[in-house]
Amino acid sequence: MNELPTRDRAVIWHPFTQMQTAPLPIPIVRGEGAVLYAADDREYVDMISSWWVNLHGHAHPHIARRVSEQLHTLEHVIFAGFTHQPAVELAERLLSVLPSNQAKIFYSDNGSTAVEVALKMAFQYWHNLGQPRRRVIALEDAYHGDTFGAMAVSGRSAFTAPFAPFLFDVEYLPTPVPGREEDVLKQAEALFNNDVAAFIAEPLVQGAGGMLMYEPDVLDKLIGIARRHNALIIADEVMTGFGRTGQLFASNYLQEKPDLMCLSKGLTGGTMALGVTACTQAIYNAFLSDDKFRTLFHGHSFTANPLACTAALASLDLTLADETPANWQRIAHQHAAFSERLRQYSNVENIRQRGTLLAFDLKSDGQTSYFNNIRDVAYNFLLERGILMRPLGNVLYLMPPYCTTNEQLQYTYEQVEELLNQLTGLLVY
Ligand SMILES: *Cc1c(COP(=O)(O)O)cnc(C)c1O
Repeated sequence: MNELPTRDRAVIWHPFTQMQTAPLPIPIVRGEGAVLYAADDREYVDMISSWWVNLHGHAHPHIARRVSEQLHTLEHVIFAGFTHQPAVELAERLLSVLPSNQAKIFYSDNGSTAVEVALKMAFQYWHNLGQPRRRVIALEDAYHGDTFGAMAVSGRSAFTAPFAPFLFDVEYLPTPVPGREEDVLKQAEALFNNDVAAFIAEPLVQGAGGMLMYEPDVLDKLIGIARRHNALIIADEVMTGFGRTGQLFASNYLQEKPDLMCLSKGLTGGTMALGVTACTQAIYNAFLSDDKFRTLFHGHSFTANPLACTAALASLDLTLADETPANWQRIAHQHAAFSERLRQYSNVENIRQRGTLLAFDLKSDGQTSYFNNIRDVAYNFLLERGILMRPLGNVLYLMPPYCTTNEQLQYTYEQVEELLNQLTGLLVY
Protein backbone atom coordinates (compact mmCIF):
# COMPACT_ATOMS: atom_id res chain seq x y z
CA MET A 1 0.00 0.00 0.00
CA ASN A 2 2.85 2.37 0.83
CA GLU A 3 3.97 2.63 -2.76
CA LEU A 4 0.55 3.87 -3.90
CA PRO A 5 1.43 7.61 -3.66
CA THR A 6 4.48 7.19 -5.92
CA ARG A 7 2.53 5.05 -8.40
CA ASP A 8 -0.12 7.79 -8.34
CA ARG A 9 2.50 10.47 -9.04
CA ALA A 10 3.79 8.50 -12.04
CA VAL A 11 0.43 8.37 -13.82
CA ILE A 12 -2.12 10.81 -12.37
CA TRP A 13 -2.83 14.55 -12.72
CA HIS A 14 -4.93 15.74 -9.75
CA PRO A 15 -7.59 18.50 -9.72
CA PHE A 16 -6.71 22.01 -8.53
CA THR A 17 -3.17 20.80 -7.83
CA GLN A 18 0.19 22.26 -8.79
CA MET A 19 1.83 18.90 -9.48
CA GLN A 20 5.38 20.23 -9.23
CA THR A 21 5.12 21.34 -5.62
CA ALA A 22 2.24 19.28 -4.21
CA PRO A 23 3.17 16.71 -1.57
CA LEU A 24 2.33 13.10 -2.44
CA PRO A 25 -1.38 12.34 -1.94
CA ILE A 26 -2.61 10.44 1.12
CA PRO A 27 -4.03 7.00 0.27
CA ILE A 28 -7.44 6.46 1.90
CA VAL A 29 -8.59 2.87 2.26
CA ARG A 30 -11.93 3.18 4.02
CA GLY A 31 -14.51 5.62 5.31
CA GLU A 32 -17.12 5.39 8.02
CA GLY A 33 -19.30 8.18 9.39
CA ALA A 34 -17.32 11.43 9.35
CA VAL A 35 -13.96 9.60 9.44
CA LEU A 36 -11.57 8.70 6.62
CA TYR A 37 -9.06 5.92 7.35
CA ALA A 38 -5.65 6.12 5.68
CA ALA A 39 -3.40 3.26 4.57
CA ASP A 40 -1.02 4.02 7.47
CA ASP A 41 -3.93 3.65 9.95
CA ARG A 42 -4.20 7.39 10.54
CA GLU A 43 -7.70 8.82 10.84
CA TYR A 44 -9.02 12.09 9.43
CA VAL A 45 -12.27 13.77 10.45
CA ASP A 46 -13.73 14.91 7.14
CA MET A 47 -14.75 18.46 8.07
CA ILE A 48 -15.31 19.47 4.43
CA SER A 49 -17.54 16.50 3.57
CA SER A 50 -15.06 15.46 0.86
CA TRP A 51 -15.45 18.65 -1.19
CA TRP A 52 -18.97 19.36 0.05
CA VAL A 53 -20.62 16.23 -1.31
CA ASN A 54 -21.07 13.95 1.69
CA LEU A 55 -24.20 14.33 3.81
CA HIS A 56 -24.73 11.22 5.92
CA GLY A 57 -21.21 9.89 6.41
CA HIS A 58 -18.94 7.70 4.32
CA ALA A 59 -19.98 4.27 3.03
CA HIS A 60 -23.45 4.65 4.54
CA PRO A 61 -24.99 1.15 4.77
CA HIS A 62 -28.46 2.22 3.51
CA ILE A 63 -27.05 3.91 0.40
CA ALA A 64 -24.58 1.04 -0.15
CA ARG A 65 -27.34 -1.58 0.03
CA ARG A 66 -29.71 0.27 -2.33
CA VAL A 67 -26.98 0.95 -4.92
CA SER A 68 -25.75 -2.64 -4.69
CA GLU A 69 -29.27 -4.02 -5.31
CA GLN A 70 -29.70 -1.66 -8.26
CA LEU A 71 -26.33 -2.72 -9.67
CA HIS A 72 -27.58 -6.30 -9.89
CA THR A 73 -30.82 -5.19 -11.60
CA LEU A 74 -29.97 -2.46 -14.12
CA GLU A 75 -26.65 -0.61 -14.17
CA HIS A 76 -27.44 1.76 -17.05
CA VAL A 77 -29.69 2.33 -20.02
CA ILE A 78 -29.84 5.03 -22.68
CA PHE A 79 -32.17 7.81 -21.46
CA ALA A 80 -33.50 8.97 -24.82
CA GLY A 81 -36.55 6.90 -25.77
CA PHE A 82 -36.20 4.84 -22.57
CA THR A 83 -36.80 5.39 -18.89
CA HIS A 84 -36.53 3.51 -15.58
CA GLN A 85 -37.95 3.41 -12.06
CA PRO A 86 -35.12 5.22 -10.19
CA ALA A 87 -35.15 8.23 -12.57
CA VAL A 88 -38.94 8.63 -12.41
CA GLU A 89 -39.18 8.11 -8.68
CA LEU A 90 -36.31 10.54 -8.01
CA ALA A 91 -37.89 13.23 -10.19
CA GLU A 92 -41.24 12.77 -8.42
CA ARG A 93 -39.66 12.92 -4.98
CA LEU A 94 -37.45 15.93 -5.81
CA LEU A 95 -40.42 17.87 -7.19
CA SER A 96 -42.36 17.10 -4.01
CA VAL A 97 -39.67 18.82 -1.89
CA LEU A 98 -38.46 21.58 -4.24
CA PRO A 99 -40.26 24.97 -4.31
CA SER A 100 -43.74 24.37 -5.71
CA ASN A 101 -43.14 26.30 -8.96
CA GLN A 102 -40.61 23.66 -10.09
CA ALA A 103 -42.23 21.31 -12.61
CA LYS A 104 -39.65 19.31 -14.59
CA ILE A 105 -36.32 17.57 -13.87
CA PHE A 106 -33.45 17.35 -16.39
CA TYR A 107 -30.61 15.01 -15.46
CA SER A 108 -26.90 15.44 -16.11
CA ASP A 109 -23.61 14.41 -14.53
CA ASN A 110 -22.35 17.02 -12.06
CA GLY A 111 -22.70 20.57 -10.78
CA SER A 112 -21.03 22.22 -13.76
CA THR A 113 -23.26 20.42 -16.25
CA ALA A 114 -26.34 21.27 -14.15
CA VAL A 115 -25.33 24.94 -14.59
CA GLU A 116 -24.59 24.50 -18.33
CA VAL A 117 -28.05 23.02 -18.81
CA ALA A 118 -29.71 25.85 -16.87
CA LEU A 119 -27.90 28.44 -19.03
CA LYS A 120 -28.81 26.64 -22.26
CA MET A 121 -32.44 26.36 -21.14
CA ALA A 122 -32.48 30.08 -20.34
CA PHE A 123 -30.89 31.21 -23.63
CA GLN A 124 -32.98 28.86 -25.75
CA TYR A 125 -36.15 29.82 -23.87
CA TRP A 126 -35.80 33.36 -25.22
CA HIS A 127 -34.68 32.07 -28.62
CA ASN A 128 -37.73 29.79 -28.88
CA LEU A 129 -40.06 32.65 -27.88
CA GLY A 130 -38.62 34.63 -30.79
CA GLN A 131 -37.38 37.34 -28.41
CA PRO A 132 -33.66 36.61 -28.13
CA ARG A 133 -32.00 38.04 -25.03
CA ARG A 134 -28.23 38.09 -24.64
CA ARG A 135 -27.35 39.59 -21.28
CA VAL A 136 -26.54 37.55 -18.17
CA ILE A 137 -26.11 39.00 -14.71
CA ALA A 138 -24.14 37.19 -12.03
CA LEU A 139 -22.49 38.04 -8.72
CA GLU A 140 -18.81 38.84 -8.23
CA ASP A 141 -17.02 36.05 -6.34
CA ALA A 142 -19.54 33.54 -7.70
CA TYR A 143 -18.46 29.99 -8.46
CA HIS A 144 -20.63 27.94 -10.78
CA GLY A 145 -18.22 25.27 -12.02
CA ASP A 146 -15.27 24.62 -14.30
CA THR A 147 -16.78 23.99 -17.75
CA PHE A 148 -16.83 26.97 -20.11
CA GLY A 149 -20.38 28.22 -19.59
CA ALA A 150 -20.11 27.69 -15.85
CA MET A 151 -16.75 29.50 -15.81
CA ALA A 152 -18.22 32.37 -17.84
CA VAL A 153 -20.89 33.07 -15.21
CA SER A 154 -18.42 32.63 -12.34
CA GLY A 155 -16.50 35.57 -10.92
CA ARG A 156 -13.36 36.30 -12.95
CA SER A 157 -10.22 35.35 -11.04
CA ALA A 158 -6.81 33.71 -11.36
CA PHE A 159 -8.71 30.45 -11.92
CA THR A 160 -10.42 31.69 -15.06
CA ALA A 161 -7.66 34.06 -16.33
CA PRO A 162 -6.11 31.69 -18.94
CA PHE A 163 -9.56 31.23 -20.50
CA ALA A 164 -10.79 34.83 -20.31
CA PRO A 165 -10.75 35.36 -24.12
CA PHE A 166 -13.00 32.33 -24.59
CA LEU A 167 -15.66 33.16 -21.99
CA PHE A 168 -18.89 34.89 -23.04
CA ASP A 169 -19.59 38.33 -21.59
CA VAL A 170 -21.33 38.48 -18.24
CA GLU A 171 -22.14 41.53 -16.15
CA TYR A 172 -21.56 41.45 -12.41
CA LEU A 173 -23.12 42.86 -9.30
CA PRO A 174 -21.06 42.90 -6.10
CA THR A 175 -22.11 40.20 -3.63
CA PRO A 176 -24.65 41.90 -1.32
CA VAL A 177 -22.88 41.06 1.94
CA PRO A 178 -24.18 42.81 5.07
CA GLY A 179 -23.63 46.57 4.89
CA ARG A 180 -23.42 46.61 1.10
CA GLU A 181 -27.08 45.82 0.37
CA GLU A 182 -28.36 49.29 -0.56
CA ASP A 183 -25.44 49.93 -2.90
CA VAL A 184 -25.91 46.59 -4.69
CA LEU A 185 -29.66 47.16 -5.06
CA LYS A 186 -28.99 50.58 -6.55
CA GLN A 187 -26.54 49.08 -9.05
CA ALA A 188 -29.08 46.36 -9.87
CA GLU A 189 -31.76 48.95 -10.66
CA ALA A 190 -29.37 50.46 -13.20
CA LEU A 191 -28.15 47.15 -14.64
CA PHE A 192 -31.32 45.16 -15.29
CA ASN A 193 -33.33 45.83 -18.43
CA ASN A 194 -35.46 43.82 -20.85
CA ASP A 195 -32.40 42.35 -22.59
CA VAL A 196 -31.38 40.31 -19.55
CA ALA A 197 -31.90 36.62 -20.25
CA ALA A 198 -30.97 35.35 -16.79
CA PHE A 199 -29.77 36.28 -13.34
CA ILE A 200 -27.73 33.51 -11.69
CA ALA A 201 -26.69 33.29 -8.03
CA GLU A 202 -25.68 30.89 -5.29
CA PRO A 203 -28.44 31.68 -2.81
CA LEU A 204 -27.24 32.95 0.61
CA VAL A 205 -23.77 31.36 0.54
CA GLN A 206 -21.09 31.70 -2.13
CA GLY A 207 -19.00 28.61 -1.60
CA ALA A 208 -15.72 28.54 -3.52
CA GLY A 209 -15.68 32.36 -3.64
CA GLY A 210 -14.80 32.28 0.06
CA MET A 211 -17.94 31.19 1.93
CA LEU A 212 -19.37 34.69 1.60
CA MET A 213 -22.81 34.93 3.17
CA TYR A 214 -25.69 37.33 2.59
CA GLU A 215 -29.28 37.67 3.73
CA PRO A 216 -32.47 36.31 2.12
CA ASP A 217 -34.07 39.77 2.20
CA VAL A 218 -31.59 41.36 -0.22
CA LEU A 219 -31.71 38.36 -2.57
CA ASP A 220 -35.51 38.61 -2.61
CA LYS A 221 -35.15 42.27 -3.59
CA LEU A 222 -32.60 41.48 -6.32
CA ILE A 223 -34.88 38.77 -7.71
CA GLY A 224 -37.75 41.25 -7.55
CA ILE A 225 -35.80 43.71 -9.71
CA ALA A 226 -34.86 40.93 -12.18
CA ARG A 227 -38.49 39.81 -12.35
CA ARG A 228 -39.72 43.31 -13.25
CA HIS A 229 -37.73 42.79 -16.46
CA ASN A 230 -38.87 39.16 -16.82
CA ALA A 231 -35.30 37.85 -16.52
CA LEU A 232 -35.13 34.16 -15.62
CA ILE A 233 -33.76 33.42 -12.15
CA ILE A 234 -31.23 30.57 -11.81
CA ALA A 235 -30.52 29.36 -8.26
CA ASP A 236 -27.28 27.38 -8.16
CA GLU A 237 -27.93 25.18 -5.13
CA VAL A 238 -25.17 22.71 -6.02
CA MET A 239 -23.50 23.38 -2.66
CA THR A 240 -26.37 24.84 -0.58
CA GLY A 241 -28.90 22.09 -1.37
CA PHE A 242 -30.03 19.27 0.91
CA GLY A 243 -29.80 20.97 4.28
CA ARG A 244 -26.41 22.68 4.32
CA THR A 245 -27.94 26.03 5.24
CA GLY A 246 -30.34 24.63 7.84
CA GLN A 247 -33.27 24.38 5.40
CA LEU A 248 -33.64 21.68 2.75
CA PHE A 249 -32.79 24.32 0.12
CA ALA A 250 -31.41 27.83 0.61
CA SER A 251 -34.24 29.00 -1.68
CA ASN A 252 -36.66 27.98 1.09
CA TYR A 253 -35.54 31.13 2.95
CA LEU A 254 -36.81 33.25 0.04
CA GLN A 255 -40.23 34.67 -0.78
CA GLU A 256 -39.35 34.85 -4.50
CA LYS A 257 -38.76 31.43 -6.03
CA PRO A 258 -36.20 30.72 -8.79
CA ASP A 259 -37.23 29.61 -12.30
CA LEU A 260 -34.33 27.19 -12.63
CA MET A 261 -32.48 25.28 -9.90
CA CYS A 262 -29.16 23.43 -10.14
CA LEU A 263 -28.46 20.50 -7.82
CA SER A 264 -25.52 18.10 -7.48
CA LYS A 265 -22.89 17.41 -4.75
CA GLY A 266 -25.14 16.28 -1.83
CA LEU A 267 -27.79 15.02 -4.27
CA THR A 268 -26.50 11.44 -4.00
CA GLY A 269 -25.28 11.90 -0.43
CA GLY A 270 -21.83 12.17 -1.97
CA THR A 271 -21.91 8.63 -3.34
CA MET A 272 -21.97 9.14 -7.10
CA ALA A 273 -21.81 11.90 -9.69
CA LEU A 274 -25.24 13.21 -10.67
CA GLY A 275 -26.58 16.61 -11.66
CA VAL A 276 -30.13 17.94 -11.82
CA THR A 277 -31.53 21.06 -13.44
CA ALA A 278 -35.11 21.72 -12.35
CA CYS A 279 -37.32 24.22 -14.18
CA THR A 280 -40.80 25.71 -14.23
CA GLN A 281 -43.64 24.61 -16.50
CA ALA A 282 -43.35 27.91 -18.42
CA ILE A 283 -39.73 27.18 -19.39
CA TYR A 284 -40.56 23.60 -20.34
CA ASN A 285 -43.54 24.77 -22.42
CA ALA A 286 -41.34 27.10 -24.50
CA PHE A 287 -39.61 24.01 -25.92
CA LEU A 288 -42.85 22.22 -26.90
CA SER A 289 -43.46 22.49 -30.63
CA ASP A 290 -44.04 20.62 -33.86
CA ASP A 291 -40.82 22.31 -34.93
CA LYS A 292 -37.86 20.02 -34.13
CA PHE A 293 -35.55 23.05 -33.89
CA ARG A 294 -37.19 24.05 -30.59
CA THR A 295 -35.84 20.87 -28.92
CA LEU A 296 -33.32 21.16 -26.10
CA PHE A 297 -30.38 19.49 -27.84
CA HIS A 298 -28.42 18.51 -24.80
CA GLY A 299 -27.58 15.18 -23.17
CA HIS A 300 -24.80 13.10 -21.69
CA SER A 301 -23.98 9.42 -22.13
CA PHE A 302 -24.71 8.75 -18.47
CA THR A 303 -27.81 10.93 -18.18
CA ALA A 304 -30.00 9.67 -15.30
CA ASN A 305 -27.69 6.75 -14.55
CA PRO A 306 -29.82 4.29 -12.53
CA LEU A 307 -27.12 3.70 -9.91
CA ALA A 308 -26.69 7.45 -9.33
CA CYS A 309 -30.47 7.99 -9.18
CA THR A 310 -30.75 5.13 -6.68
CA ALA A 311 -27.99 6.64 -4.53
CA ALA A 312 -29.94 9.93 -4.62
CA LEU A 313 -33.16 8.17 -3.59
CA ALA A 314 -31.40 6.41 -0.70
CA SER A 315 -29.79 9.69 0.38
CA LEU A 316 -33.18 11.40 0.23
CA ASP A 317 -34.63 8.68 2.53
CA LEU A 318 -31.98 9.65 5.07
CA THR A 319 -32.28 13.42 4.53
CA LEU A 320 -36.04 13.35 5.09
CA ALA A 321 -35.83 11.15 8.20
CA ASP A 322 -36.46 13.09 11.42
CA GLU A 323 -32.96 12.77 12.79
CA THR A 324 -31.35 14.63 9.88
CA PRO A 325 -33.02 18.05 10.39
CA ALA A 326 -32.37 17.51 14.11
CA ASN A 327 -28.70 17.06 13.22
CA TRP A 328 -28.69 20.31 11.20
CA GLN A 329 -29.89 22.07 14.34
CA ARG A 330 -27.48 20.25 16.61
CA ILE A 331 -24.48 21.16 14.43
CA ALA A 332 -25.72 24.75 14.00
CA HIS A 333 -25.95 24.98 17.80
CA GLN A 334 -22.41 23.70 18.30
CA HIS A 335 -21.09 26.08 15.62
CA ALA A 336 -22.88 29.03 17.25
CA ALA A 337 -21.28 28.28 20.63
CA PHE A 338 -17.85 27.94 18.97
CA SER A 339 -18.40 31.28 17.19
CA GLU A 340 -18.63 32.93 20.60
CA ARG A 341 -15.24 31.45 21.51
CA LEU A 342 -13.81 32.59 18.16
CA ARG A 343 -14.80 36.18 18.88
CA GLN A 344 -12.06 36.33 21.52
CA TYR A 345 -9.29 35.89 18.94
CA SER A 346 -7.77 39.08 17.57
CA ASN A 347 -6.53 37.24 14.46
CA VAL A 348 -10.09 36.19 13.50
CA GLU A 349 -12.63 38.36 11.66
CA ASN A 350 -15.90 38.14 9.73
CA ILE A 351 -17.25 35.14 11.65
CA ARG A 352 -20.32 33.97 9.75
CA GLN A 353 -22.69 31.04 9.92
CA ARG A 354 -25.68 29.67 8.06
CA GLY A 355 -26.95 26.33 9.33
CA THR A 356 -24.22 23.67 9.34
CA LEU A 357 -21.76 26.04 7.64
CA LEU A 358 -19.36 28.09 9.72
CA ALA A 359 -16.67 30.33 8.20
CA PHE A 360 -14.29 33.04 9.33
CA ASP A 361 -11.30 34.95 7.99
CA LEU A 362 -7.79 34.78 9.38
CA LYS A 363 -6.20 38.18 9.53
CA SER A 364 -3.07 37.83 7.50
CA ASP A 365 -1.23 41.15 7.28
CA GLY A 366 -2.67 42.11 3.94
CA GLN A 367 -1.72 38.81 2.27
CA THR A 368 -5.27 37.73 1.56
CA SER A 369 -5.49 35.45 -1.41
CA TYR A 370 -6.07 31.81 -2.17
CA PHE A 371 -2.36 31.50 -2.79
CA ASN A 372 -1.46 32.78 0.62
CA ASN A 373 1.05 30.94 2.77
CA ILE A 374 -1.49 31.07 5.63
CA ARG A 375 -3.62 28.56 3.75
CA ASP A 376 -0.91 25.88 3.57
CA VAL A 377 0.09 26.44 7.18
CA ALA A 378 -3.49 25.99 8.39
CA TYR A 379 -4.13 23.01 6.10
CA ASN A 380 -1.02 21.14 7.24
CA PHE A 381 -1.43 22.03 10.91
CA LEU A 382 -4.96 20.59 10.99
CA LEU A 383 -4.11 17.58 8.81
CA GLU A 384 -1.32 16.60 11.20
CA ARG A 385 -3.93 16.61 13.95
CA GLY A 386 -6.28 14.34 12.02
CA ILE A 387 -8.64 17.00 10.68
CA LEU A 388 -9.37 17.49 6.99
CA MET A 389 -10.10 21.15 6.30
CA ARG A 390 -9.16 23.00 3.11
CA PRO A 391 -9.01 26.73 3.77
CA LEU A 392 -9.96 28.94 0.83
CA GLY A 393 -7.04 31.36 1.05
CA ASN A 394 -7.35 32.94 4.48
CA VAL A 395 -10.94 31.70 4.90
CA LEU A 396 -11.34 28.79 7.29
CA TYR A 397 -14.64 26.95 7.17
CA LEU A 398 -16.36 23.90 8.60
CA MET A 399 -18.82 21.89 6.51
CA PRO A 400 -19.19 18.59 8.36
CA PRO A 401 -21.31 15.58 7.32
CA TYR A 402 -24.58 15.66 9.29
CA CYS A 403 -23.60 12.52 11.25
CA THR A 404 -20.50 14.24 12.73
CA THR A 405 -20.65 13.74 16.49
CA ASN A 406 -20.42 16.51 19.06
CA GLU A 407 -17.14 14.95 20.21
CA GLN A 408 -15.70 15.18 16.70
CA LEU A 409 -16.87 18.78 16.45
CA GLN A 410 -15.39 19.67 19.85
CA TYR A 411 -12.08 18.05 18.93
CA THR A 412 -12.01 20.08 15.71
CA TYR A 413 -12.89 23.34 17.48
CA GLU A 414 -10.09 22.75 19.99
CA GLN A 415 -7.52 22.13 17.26
CA VAL A 416 -8.67 25.23 15.36
CA GLU A 417 -8.18 27.23 18.56
CA GLU A 418 -4.73 25.70 18.95
CA LEU A 419 -3.98 26.82 15.39
CA LEU A 420 -5.17 30.36 16.18
CA ASN A 421 -2.99 30.45 19.29
CA GLN A 422 0.12 29.35 17.39
CA LEU A 423 -0.56 31.04 14.06
CA THR A 424 1.67 34.07 14.22
CA GLY A 425 4.65 31.90 15.15
CA LEU A 426 3.92 29.44 12.33
CA LEU A 427 3.81 31.89 9.46
CA VAL A 428 6.89 32.33 7.29
CA TYR A 429 6.94 35.45 5.12
C1 LIG B 1 -19.04 22.72 -6.81
C2 LIG B 1 -19.98 23.68 -7.40
C3 LIG B 1 -20.30 23.64 -8.77
C4 LIG B 1 -19.64 22.67 -9.72
O1 LIG B 1 -19.97 21.35 -9.43
P1 LIG B 1 -19.02 20.17 -9.97
O2 LIG B 1 -19.79 18.93 -9.66
O3 LIG B 1 -17.75 20.29 -9.23
O4 LIG B 1 -18.87 20.38 -11.43
C5 LIG B 1 -21.23 24.53 -9.25
N1 LIG B 1 -21.83 25.41 -8.44
C6 LIG B 1 -21.55 25.49 -7.12
C7 LIG B 1 -22.26 26.48 -6.27
C8 LIG B 1 -20.60 24.64 -6.56
O5 LIG B 1 -20.29 24.74 -5.26
